[in-house]
Amino acid sequence: MVDPSEPVVLAEQAVIDGLDHWRSLPVAQQPLWPSAESVARASEELSILPPLVFAGEVDILRERLASVARGEAFLLQGGDCAETFAAATANQIRDRVKTILQMAVVLTYGASMPVIKMGRMAGQFAKPRSSETETRGNVTLPAYRGDVVNGYDFTEESRAADPARLVRGYHTAASTLNLIRAFTQGGFADLRQVHSWNQGFARNPANVRYEHMAREIDRAIKFMMACGADFEALKRTEFYTSHEALLMDYERPLTRIDSRTGTPYDTSAHFLWVGERTRQIDGAHIDFLSRVRNPVGVKLGPTTTPRQVLELVDRLDPEREPGRLTFITRMGADRIRDVLPALLEAVSASDATPVWVSDPMHGNGLTTPNGYKTRRFDDVVDEVIGFFEAHRGAGTHPGGIHIELTGDDVTECLGGSEQIDESALATRYESLCDPRLNHMQSLELAFLVAEELGAR
Ligand code: PEP
Ligand code: MN
Repeated sequence: MVDPSEPVVLAEQAVIDGLDHWRSLPVAQQPLWPSAESVARASEELSILPPLVFAGEVDILRERLASVARGEAFLLQGGDCAETFAAATANQIRDRVKTILQMAVVLTYGASMPVIKMGRMAGQFAKPRSSETETRGNVTLPAYRGDVVNGYDFTEESRAADPARLVRGYHTAASTLNLIRAFTQGGFADLRQVHSWNQGFARNPANVRYEHMAREIDRAIKFMMACGADFEALKRTEFYTSHEALLMDYERPLTRIDSRTGTPYDTSAHFLWVGERTRQIDGAHIDFLSRVRNPVGVKLGPTTTPRQVLELVDRLDPEREPGRLTFITRMGADRIRDVLPALLEAVSASDATPVWVSDPMHGNGLTTPNGYKTRRFDDVVDEVIGFFEAHRGAGTHPGGIHIELTGDDVTECLGGSEQIDESALATRYESLCDPRLNHMQSLELAFLVAEELGAR
């Protein structure tokens, strides 16, 4: 008897076989797990847990990003360099969401466009490292690779990769995402409330520069109220999650075949990106992301060539589908104006329409004489301005910004209106990885970018 479902099953199997093609390719930046059995057990457990996001939401995000690609919207992506399990508390999650919502209101006003809000949240637990090991004094141990792999404490026990952390990462992502959904659907995101927080920021004497724009936004909101805008609808907002798709033993088991379409979605987040260190065109990460339906991103550092960009387009967006592919440039303030124009030109001359986003953080790192890894606020701003200039020159849309930030009052980046200097870094430096803009610096950046967007 012929089973009518057979061809479908065969097709699905082919999809699944393809999904595992990465296993035959070089896989950069993976931990050394204690045993193959222990990681297989953790992967097995992950593979039967419910998806964290629904494929339908992922499709909506792809449409939203398509509007960015068309120049009709702007993307704000922000969050920790490395989320930690300890910092997945209600208050810290709330304050990060709050910071992103506040920035988004300012950017919406500046750009006169919808702003797509996306956290580096609910899964940003794995980090690529430049060295396999870390040495302190005469002790050398495995490098910290993020909470989903090992612990930050500098002991042999803590630094050993532990597959049980994969499952804990999933549960921490689930509870983080649950709270994000509660906040953004339950009234916390009310436009009028978010605006009143921004007024608090602009009333601070250090921020007089931004008072004018805050007042303009206030008038715009009063105008909307007078016109009878539906503020009920503005109590809720879409909010998407994203992280670097680095750890294959986390991403693969959370990838599922969507029953509606028979295609694979990586359900660990709405949007996944490949980092500067794992974007080899023949490597496992690019192959894996080429086979999932999520919108995907690739970080592009200052050595990126036009040819590499076109190859990435062919691998990740062969259908030339707007919203599918985002390039996140992280060149450094001193390189962006030299390197980006040629990349924009090459892509514009092709038939591709990727989203272009500026990560003004990762090309601007420095270490202070007193030993802190930091970034200057002014360099961050300068890279964003260089990014806008390059797009203006090429006639392309500067589609968004990708920021490492926190809602807390940390002292990790230099400058800003609070004028954090080198000696102040010690006061509250909490990042286990890269330095983040604090709450005030993040808002200040939003106001400055909004000015740029308004001046286009
Ligand atoms: C990051 O986003 O934290 C990161 C490691 O970036 P990149 O891959 O651009 O270095
Ligand atoms: Mn980082």
